[in-house]
Amino acid sequence: MTENSWLGVFPELSSCVLEIQQYDIVTRANTPWRSIQPGNQPWPCRNNSCRRGGFRFTSFIQEMVDAGLKTKDGTVFCHGRERIGGSYRDCVRNVGVRCTVEYKGTIS
Ligand SMILES: [Zn+2]
Repeated sequence: MTENSWLGVFPELSSCVLEIQQYDIVTRANTPWRSIQPGNQPWPCRNNSCRRGGFRFTSFIQEMVDAGLKTKDGTVFCHGRERIGGSYRDCVRNVGVRCTVEYKGTIS
């Protein structure tokens, strides 16, 4: 177990797989699901107009753990701001997320 694993963030879990996919405006298709780990930087937003954007997944898993769920599918939105002409609006990019966890001390 390392600090760069989800198990370091959520010690009550015995396993945690977090996968994301992102819509690619170049290929007009979703990227393949890929497993990611927590990091110091947010997962990057692909929107070139986005400022201070990115995706964080800790609260997604925290809500799942609080509810005692073993699997959760959902969407996480970018927390950045997108420049349109001379003004800014919330970035509308998002990533699909699916997560599967096992809890310590439970018999499945
Ligand atoms: Zn963004």
